[in-house]
Amino acid sequence: MKCPKCQASMVRERYHNHEEDSLGLSCYGWHCIFCGCIMDPVIMINRARMSEKQVLVKK
Ligand SMILES: [Zn+2]
Repeated sequence: MKCPKCQASMVRERYHNHEEDSLGLSCYGWHCIFCGCIMDPVIMINRARMSEKQVLVKK
């Protein structure tokens, strides 16, 4: 995996999503050690889920 910005090598990192931790779920992303760019498509998925939850919570 190479950084889309600087083409440097990216390292795989494990991320914890506070919303999902209680369910035992965590996700992996890529972190550029050179420019700090983070590639984590799972975060965008979680955002979509959170927006769905907010709709469900509101009555
Ligand atoms: Zn980079």
